[in-house]
Amino acid sequence: MKLTFLGTGTSHGIPVIGCHCPVCTSSDPHDNRYRSSILIEKGDTKVIIDTGCEFRLQALRCGLDSLDGVLYTHAHADHLMGLDDLRVFTGEARRLPIYSLASVLETIGKCFPYAFAEFSYKGVPRLEMVEVKEGEIFHIGDISFQAIPVLHGAMRIAGYRFGKAAYLTDVSDLLLEENAERLSGLDVLIIGALRTKPHWSHFSFDQALENARRINAGTVYFTHINHETSDAEIRRRYLPDACPAYDTLTLEVDDE
Ligand SMILES: [Zn+2]
Ligand SMILES: [Zn+2]
Ligand SMILES: [Zn+2]
Repeated sequence: MKLTFLGTGTSHGIPVIGCHCPVCTSSDPHDNRYRSSILIEKGDTKVIIDTGCEFRLQALRCGLDSLDGVLYTHAHADHLMGLDDLRVFTGEARRLPIYSLASVLETIGKCFPYAFAEFSYKGVPRLEMVEVKEGEIFHIGDISFQAIPVLHGAMRIAGYRFGKAAYLTDVSDLLLEENAERLSGLDVLIIGALRTKPHWSHFSFDQALENARRINAGTVYFTHINHETSDAEIRRRYLPDACPAYDTLTLEVDDE
């Protein structure tokens, strides 16, 4: 299956509004980062993880013209607020399924009640919530996913495994004991890594790499990166052990 990075930036995106730092004014296109999201495709099935504020721009950039479902990691604004633009993939006859843990779906329902209403006016997104339990394996079209609980500060949120890859963003603890089996045998690990310094609810680059090593992950990609470190600097410091993902990067991922 094919994976495309739609966005690889932290909650501000890069450039940050009003910031004149070297990364925000960089001419390297890798230093332009929309809010974090990925697209996974296999056969005719297309699934995205999270719909941040730039979902519309990301969908246009990658030519997205169909969608079978959306997985949500958690309901922070930078992962959720593009939800309304899902309406182009829904209609009177079709509700688009969105998948996540119960706690995440509850918040999404409070933010966008009209998308789930029984009688809604024309033109609003028509979505259907599908609750997934921690550790559950579920299928969307040709792709099977597993929900992997991780900690984001004090909050339990969802990461997802699909084939030999896992997407774990906004993470400060991989809960290695309970996830040992779920995180074994990964060819590709996409892991949130905010910056050089530790942060209470995000791994630093070093912490992300250290955790990737503990689960013996194959190729490691950092995502959800902030503006304190340029793409070139992260490459210089971490290749070949880990690589910063960048917007529009595509990868092939093997099935289990
Ligand atoms: Zn985030
Ligand atoms: Zn900046
Ligand atoms: Zn978050």
